[in-house]
This record gives sequence, structure tokens and C-alpha cells, in this order.
Amino acid sequence: MEHNAIFWIILVTLASHFAVERLSAHLTRTRLTPKVPPEFEAVCPPERYARMQAYTRDALRFSMVAASFDFLVLLGFWFAGGFAAWERIVAARLTHPIPAGLAYLGGLAAASAALSLPFEWYSTFRLDGRHGLNRTTPRTFVLDRVKGLVLAVVLGGGLLAALIAFYRWTGAFAWLWAWGFVAAVTLFLQYVAPTVLMPLFNRFWPLPEGGLRDALTALARRTGFPLREILVMDGSRRSARGNAFFTGFGSRKRIVLFDTLVEKHPTPELVAITAHEIGHHRRGHVWIGTVVGLAQTGALLYLLQAFVGHGPLFAAFGVDSPSFHVGLVLFGLLLTPAQLVLRLAGNALSRRHERQADAFAREAMDGDGTPLADALRRLAMDNLGNLTPHPLTVVLHASHPPVVERVRSLEGKTP
Ligand SMILES: [Zn+2]
Repeated sequence: MEHNAIFWIILVTLASHFAVERLSAHLTRTRLTPKVPPEFEAVCPPERYARMQAYTRDALRFSMVAASFDFLVLLGFWFAGGFAAWERIVAARLTHPIPAGLAYLGGLAAASAALSLPFEWYSTFRLDGRHGLNRTTPRTFVLDRVKGLVLAVVLGGGLLAALIAFYRWTGAFAWLWAWGFVAAVTLFLQYVAPTVLMPLFNRFWPLPEGGLRDALTALARRTGFPLREILVMDGSRRSARGNAFFTGFGSRKRIVLFDTLVEKHPTPELVAITAHEIGHHRRGHVWIGTVVGLAQTGALLYLLQAFVGHGPLFAAFGVDSPSFHVGLVLFGLLLTPAQLVLRLAGNALSRRHERQADAFAREAMDGDGTPLADALRRLAMDNLGNLTPHPLTVVLHASHPPVVERVRSLEGKTP
């Protein structure tokens, strides 16, 4: 293993990322004080607030243990020459690039999944379980993993085999071929997800006739939204947390409300939540997200082609015979800094979109932000959310602005 520039770039990036994450968790922990934020005082008694914060504390401790474990395992595997040793084992048995690539990446993915399994188990049954958030049975947990594994083998394996073939046999424009292929598969999966993929994991049924259904239909008409169906999903199969989302394209849009959401929120709040989701569509956020994602994929596939045969990258991991599949894994590690920047930019864009969707919902509710503010308060309390994340944590992780900030701007108290 050569301690060249690439070796140090990857090591320093991984270590500083780990350090920044720890700092962010520490800063968020120090902000947990017993004082309920003024926006929640009327609805959240101090005992309730203490329970929300107890969950945040436990979740922070858990993520610290899980992240440290991941970090140490990766460094250990790297420094022990694991990437090179595994390649020697695979190359001795498989010579064709496609089976060799599938075995190499499949082996690493399987090992990584096996190592994270105890953490997923703990997070579901102990962490969420202890705080009353978990509804997953051991049977659902196991079935989810089995279905996820089958999908990963079929979809992930197929995609990887195609990538290897493109980069091996289509020459200088391999990245362009690969991009077109990945884009087509992504759009196709988005298209079939509501009817083929999601029913593998959840049950859906039409929202029964009644006041809520009428109110949502009226909202869709008022906002000129082509709503085809209103469905309820058994979110309670896994968690007590509530949520809502849209699926489908063009005139085939459906809104899906979690049964946990319908159970707990009064009609005006559910209308406001739906208005927020309609806001995402009306402001073009769904298309922006798809286009940004495809542009990122294109850039990554182009860079992959530039770096995948780069000698120093292989030397930094002690691999002496370069191959596409090993290059793919090492390139992924080399890319960590760029991925971080992309993630931060993506989160910032998402927070901006959330603010726009909140503003849209307020407008759609005749300028009244209260129903959505009430819904956000109830969601934060039921989901044991953290009301006081440190700004560093928000920048690093938050896809939504802090809930206190959203409530304040919905109720018109922005300075
Ligand atoms: Zn949103």
C-alpha cells in the first residue's frame, strides 16, 4: 500500500468528516435544555418535552456508536489490505469481467449489510421500541430484509453488470451510454414504484368516503391539482410515526396518507399537510429533484471514467492489478469529499423547497398558516423530534428547516 497523495486525501477526508459529525452531535446535545420553545409552550407540557429530548439523547448516542464502528471497520479493512486480498480471491476464480465484478461488489455489499444488521435491529427494537415509536414485528423485520435483498440482487446486480459492460466495450463514450441507461432505469423505476415496488412492502386502500375525502378533493380542485386517487397506507406496520407523500406522474397522481397520520390529525391539519405536498408539485420541486439527480449521476459517471484506471488510486489501496470493479469501489471512497459537498447542497435546496411548499400551503388555506403549524407541532411531538438542532447539524443533515422556524414563519412571526 503506497502512501501517495490519494491515500492522504481519502484518509484525511474520512477522518475530518467523522470528526465534524461528532462535533455536530456534541453541539446538538449541549442545546438540550428543559425549557420548552415558546412556539410549543401551549401544547407541549414539560414532561412531554423531556420524553422528546430523552429520545434525541439516546438517538445521538446510538449514532455515535454506529458511526464509530463503521469508521473503524472501514479503516481496518483498508489498512489490513482487505480490498486487495478480496480481489485476489475473486480474480483467482473468475476471469470474465462481469461475474468477477458482481462477485467482488456483491461480497463487499453482503459483508457490509451483515455488519449493519445488528445496528438496524437495535435501532428498531431497542431504541425506537423503548420510546414507543416502533410497531415493527420481528417477522416484518425479517421479511423486509429478505425482500430488500432480492431487490438489491436483481436491480443492483443488473445495473452493475450493465455498467461493467458499458465501460468495457463502448470506448470513450462509455459514460454517456451508462448515463442514458441509468437515467432510463431510474425513470422507469419511479414510474412503476407505486404499482409494483411499494405494494411489496405496504398495503394501500382508498380513503373511505366522508368529510376528509371531500375536503381533500375540494383542495385539489381549488389548487388545480390533477388528483387521481387518495390512498391510505399501513405505515403503522413499522412505526408510530406519521407521514404523507405523492406518487405517480402527470394525470395519474395519487396522494398517500399514512394510517398513523389519519388517526391522529383532525381534518384541517390533514388538508394543510396535503396542501404542502401539492405545493411541492406545483412549484416544480419534483422535476427539479429528478433533473438535479440525473445531472449529478452524469457528472459522477464521467468522473468515474476519468479515474477508474488511475494507477495511484489502486496503489493507495495496495491493489496491483487494476480492474473496473475494484476501481468503482475505490473511486467511491475517493469521491467522499465531492459527495459531501453535493449532499450539503442537496439538503440546502430541499430546505428551500420545504419553505416554498409551506408558503404554498398557507396560501391554499386562505392565508391561514395555523392548520399546518398545528400539524407540524403534533408531528414533532408524536415523532419525538428534536426542536433545537444546532445550526451545524441542520447544515449537515436537515432536509427540512427546524420545525420551530417553520411554525414561526407559518404563524407570521418572522421579523
Ligand atoms: Zn415537504
